[in-house]
Amino acid sequence: LPVLSLSGVTRRYPEGDGFLEILRGAQGQLWRGQAVALVAPSGAGKSTLLHIAGLLERPDAGAVAIDGEDASQLDDRARTTLRRDKIGFVYQFHHLLPEFTALENVMTPQLIAGLDKREARARALDLLDYLGLAAREDHRPSELSGGEQQRVAIARAVANAPALLLADEPTGNLDPTTAEKVFSALMTLVRATGLAALIATHNLELAARMDRRWSLRNGLLVELE
Ligand code: ADP
Ligand code: ADP
Repeated sequence: LPVLSLSGVTRRYPEGDGFLEILRGAQGQLWRGQAVALVAPSGAGKSTLLHIAGLLERPDAGAVAIDGEDASQLDDRARTTLRRDKIGFVYQFHHLLPEFTALENVMTPQLIAGLDKREARARALDLLDYLGLAAREDHRPSELSGGEQQRVAIARAVANAPALLLADEPTGNLDPTTAEKVFSALMTLVRATGLAALIATHNLELAARMDRRWSLRNGLLVELE
């Protein structure tokens, strides 16, 4: 079963007297252990697609299934549970909690999901170690470099072992060297855990190193070479 399945996904926004149709029946499937780049010009609908895939927004038509579960059949509460159990998010800006240490930031989603504190701590330490941040666990975000902050955000996004990671320009705010470290951290996780990742990026060099590339043309997903 695909980790993410989009079928006939349509989304329109009101514009003037009519509609602007951003997605017009987008189709695509993402499998375990795959990193897929989402590469398209600004305004093409990348964020809209990620929001719909992440169950943050409902499409006007079409369906989204996560790990075989059709989210269009679920009420908002069940969608929230599915999102919490199966999907992690990374954004261009890290959105870490400034008063919390790196370790506490990574533990938070697990505590919210009801894991006990000892287990949450052990898993968070493992992840930070894995991402090369073992020496940074007690640092607050303001005491970390941009690349370190973003790697902590990645650790937090996968703390609950999601099946799907959605990332919107995760290296967009970073210099090339730092972007490289953050990208490597993401790919290491995909390779090691079987996570499926959909990563919107303007960086064609990074896109070329992912397993597949999607673009958006006239509201449809197209697979690039
Ligand atoms: P991208 O991420 O590729 O830059 P977006 O998905 O953010 O594209 O936006 C696609 C288009 O949809 C843009 O023209 C944007 O102005 C429009 N749009 C996005 N969200 C809304 C909204 N909530 N209401 C109206 N228009 C929107
Ligand atoms: P990376 O390439 O992983 O982003 P850097 O080489 O930029 O890491 O930074 C290495 C170390 O320098 C960091 O661990 C951090 O302690 C320190 N450092 C970098 N930027 C800052 C900053 N803005 N504030 C405080 N410490 C910083």
